[in-house]
Amino acid sequence: MNTPTRATYYRRRAVVLVGLLALSACGVQAGQKVASGTTPKRQDSNILGSDVTPPTSAPATTTAAAVPPADVQINGSDGSEVDNVIGNAVSDLQDWWKTQFPKAYGGDYQPISGGLYAIDSSTDASTVPCATSSDISALLNNAFYCPNGDAVVWDQESFMPQLAKQYGDFTVAMVIAHEWGHAIQNRAQFSAPSVITELQADCFAGAWTKHVSDGESKRFSITTSDLDTAITGILALRDAPGGAADDQMAHGSGFDRVGAFQDGFEDGVTRCAEFRDGDPAPYEFPYSDPGDANANGNLQLTGTTDEPGITDLVFPSLKAYWTDTFPKLSTDGKAWDPLGDPVAFSPDDPPTCGGKSTSGSSVFVCIPDRFVGYDAQDTIPQIYQQGGDFAVATLFATRYGLDAVHQLGTAKDDASAALQGDCLAGSWAAALLPPNPPESYQLVLSPGDLDEGVAVLMQTSSSGGSGSANGGGDAFQRVKAYRTGVIKGADACLSLEAG
Ligand SMILES: [Zn+2]
Repeated sequence: MNTPTRATYYRRRAVVLVGLLALSACGVQAGQKVASGTTPKRQDSNILGSDVTPPTSAPATTTAAAVPPADVQINGSDGSEVDNVIGNAVSDLQDWWKTQFPKAYGGDYQPISGGLYAIDSSTDASTVPCATSSDISALLNNAFYCPNGDAVVWDQESFMPQLAKQYGDFTVAMVIAHEWGHAIQNRAQFSAPSVITELQADCFAGAWTKHVSDGESKRFSITTSDLDTAITGILALRDAPGGAADDQMAHGSGFDRVGAFQDGFEDGVTRCAEFRDGDPAPYEFPYSDPGDANANGNLQLTGTTDEPGITDLVFPSLKAYWTDTFPKLSTDGKAWDPLGDPVAFSPDDPPTCGGKSTSGSSVFVCIPDRFVGYDAQDTIPQIYQQGGDFAVATLFATRYGLDAVHQLGTAKDDASAALQGDCLAGSWAAALLPPNPPESYQLVLSPGDLDEGVAVLMQTSSSGGSGSANGGGDAFQRVKAYRTGVIKGADACLSLEAG
């Protein structure tokens, strides 16, 4: 069956849509000496992180009803738009949990009893639940649930307005849904390591978001574009790369957090309620090498003979992986018809493919002539700059994935082929996980690499924008496919179909 016959080469324009986080991270060469004892930088906020960098474009705003309901009282509110969004979120969450708590845990939901607190630098700390000192600044730049007071507290001056500005109003609502998740955990007497506690709260936020995207909320309506922007916001709230999953402050890598959110979105609160130590298994690990940590896990884009760059290593790595993997996927154990050397070009002089111009394609695989072509002048340096080395590597890996899908004939249409290709890129990434990927694969993942993979798929997706967010948008589906490949491996990729 069925890869498309219309085009003889696949292409997807790689356009950078959203300026993301300060992505750091990536591969070191296999066989490089491994040292221990690196102390990675990590964020030190209590509940939510703050490694958010300024955006290059403003997201759409105002997805909430204009005024929060009268029964929602916010202590200390400055009456801002952000507090309106939060008031609406609280109202919706209280209603929603009335129906969901019995499903997840049995028994009735008890509404929050300790109140809501919007704080800023002028707030008297002694009036805020869970304040441990008279210094209000210790509580700023954050949002948190206070178990002792059964209260939710947020910074209305900086943290929440910044999030709204960078990732849209709905991200603020999702942060409140996450904090509500901690209130639920308190009611359910949930106990697990920090990272699982945080991921479960993300899962609950995802389940609530699904209810909103299904049009069930009286307070919010969201589009695929809102949803994708909000997921980008979650990615930005990850732990700094290099943190350990068993850190007592750990929230999870971006990959973990987006994954938990998607699990909740897809499978609802009953799945979230199953979370326990080791399930889901966090993909968060420290730097294994001080040199890698110093480079924020990034190889050079193009290297020297002594120090190869990511574009020098990724193609041999993909070639070795596909030589090993293809026969296992092929029904008759057929060998992979290998791709030749990649073609780096400048946009004013693109190569031909099958005798046709490739003009306008910045990263593509040419099926008949057996090569991956890429714009080495603008697109790839830009992706590298914004997304790190594994963003670049992931784009190439999706093209190798498309080639494999073409050879296997497992996709019924272009969109399904693209999802399978993304998934296979994830399976390759998983094959590079430390500590000991095959030597021939040339690369070992660094902390943050999987986040870079997720981020570049988000960035290079084009969501409908105004469509219903019902099943998640293009970016949502691509990230889900990528996660499937990482977690379940290549076999699981070939049955994916675009909805
Ligand atoms: Zn949390």
